[in-house]
Amino acid sequence: MAPPDLIFLHAPSVYDFRRHSILYGPVSDLVPSTPVFEMYPIGFTTLAAYLEQHGLRTRIINLANRMLEDARFDVEAHLRHMDAAAFGIDLHWLPHAHGSIEVARIVKRLHPKRPVIFGGFSSTYFHRELILYPAVDFVVRGDSTEVPLLQLMRYLRSGGEAHPGPNSAQARTLSEIPNLVWKDAEGGAHVNPLTYSPENLDHILLDYSGMLQSAVRYRDLISLKPFPNWLKYPITAALTVRGCRYNCTTCGGGAGAFRNLHGRQRPAYREPEQLASDIRRIGQFSSGPVFILGDIRQPGDDYANRFLDAIAGYEKPVFIELFDAAPKEFFQRVRRSLPNWTLEISMESHDEGVRRAFGRPYSTVDIERTIDDALSEGCQRLDLFFMVGLKEQTYSSVMGIVDYSRAMLQRYARQNERRVIPFISPLAPFVDPGSRAFEAPEKHGYRLFARTLEEHRQLLLAPSWKYVLNYETQWMNRDQIVAATYEAGRRLNLAKGEFGVIDAKTAQATDRRIAQATGLIREIDDIMTSSDSADRQARLMALKQRTDASNLSTVCDKAELETQILGSRINFLQAARVVAEVWWLNHTRPTVKNTEI
Ligand code: SF4
Repeated sequence: MAPPDLIFLHAPSVYDFRRHSILYGPVSDLVPSTPVFEMYPIGFTTLAAYLEQHGLRTRIINLANRMLEDARFDVEAHLRHMDAAAFGIDLHWLPHAHGSIEVARIVKRLHPKRPVIFGGFSSTYFHRELILYPAVDFVVRGDSTEVPLLQLMRYLRSGGEAHPGPNSAQARTLSEIPNLVWKDAEGGAHVNPLTYSPENLDHILLDYSGMLQSAVRYRDLISLKPFPNWLKYPITAALTVRGCRYNCTTCGGGAGAFRNLHGRQRPAYREPEQLASDIRRIGQFSSGPVFILGDIRQPGDDYANRFLDAIAGYEKPVFIELFDAAPKEFFQRVRRSLPNWTLEISMESHDEGVRRAFGRPYSTVDIERTIDDALSEGCQRLDLFFMVGLKEQTYSSVMGIVDYSRAMLQRYARQNERRVIPFISPLAPFVDPGSRAFEAPEKHGYRLFARTLEEHRQLLLAPSWKYVLNYETQWMNRDQIVAATYEAGRRLNLAKGEFGVIDAKTAQATDRRIAQATGLIREIDDIMTSSDSADRQARLMALKQRTDASNLSTVCDKAELETQILGSRINFLQAARVVAEVWWLNHTRPTVKNTEI
């Protein structure tokens, strides 16, 4: 079998997390990943599909998940036997700052002649620093790198020679490739202008067919799994947009960050009919829920209506999210089109002042009406998210979130209604680079402990999440953020148990885990007072078994976020059909023209 042209590698947050003793805390309680952040970004699937569509072979290897699932999985031995024209590593979320660069070093040592390419939001933000690492050859900047990456791969495959063809966007020199950061023969760094920023997302494939093709071609499903439990709970994502109209204080995916980092003047949306067909395609092989990323009302009511018309009758579970309050008519339309829908709302705080300071535009009255309307129109479940570590938020304001949630649970319980589930989690581990709080911390009441990529890499090796946090605020220091998170998590968990949204056994188990974690935080703090680094290290390693056991589902049980799946989770026969269909399309249609640039 011919080797792939490009192997995408997803690294764990910390390499090698199996050898470190770190209490990661509740940093990933509300996402399917563990604190290793083993889920790879959705960009891997769109990039792989785009390159495959243009005749290149790709392979995705989720090293983080392989390491997590198998304590003896040997990354170096595995990579030694792999070859490709190039290796691509994501540094999208900053918590991968440590693992991604360590994996790059390993690849460079094992395959010194093969280029190592980085991409993702954090790569874009830190591109000037990243390109200086000897193991990094290229950084592709921007929120949409399908076209620049294809040009780079064609350039590399041709050995850097010009082979312009009638349908080819072949670059003759590296300096012609938009958004590319590269090194010349002397090691000098060059930053090409960021000129590629597509107006919409209609040129990409978001139906996971590229992944399925790769799984069949290399007979390797295990390396593609996004997280350990995925075959039992195959949640996937559908993308409505790159960009956002909002500009929340600590978010690196807001309008300001997209403008400054990615040159994006306005959000690029996926055509609503294409979005519906992405979801239907996923539904052909998976019974798992599809999470629609981005509020479908963000581009306007017409977009939402067109999407809901196109998806009408899709019976598998779908999660939708709202960035603002919505009228009852919207939910009536959702109900008509999607019989099995769950709603996600990030309320952030019960306090309107704190919520407004974060950037959420809605009042409590409006959002409560929205919740009632969604329930009356049959949403299966409604997850309500609150956060710790916000601008203008004090310790007692965090406890106010719990009081508010408790009152809400009590009110609904009186109506025998248990579909509204509040969650609380810390803003952790990092305030996003590119966000308003990162760019002007004093103005927003934040104090940052790290600014550079290297500083964040070092923070990730700290022994507990308290020391990993890259910030504190003028309203709460790191100790208070940690204390408020555990105390609010403990009280909220008990309230959920009391009003029956989780069972008593789950509530007790979570309560025990929170008690263990707070005890560990104190022990680690005590160890950190030792001035003898060898002593500190030995005592931290002695805690490893206990920290590892405390790193999952701290302030809530991950399973609380799951929805019921009916029937077989993954239909492998249908998956094979999708692969055959895509193969047929890719090999029978005329070469796709690169009209996007
Ligand atoms: S947190 Fe705010 S800025 Fe970030 S994606 Fe959500 S709505 Fe947009």
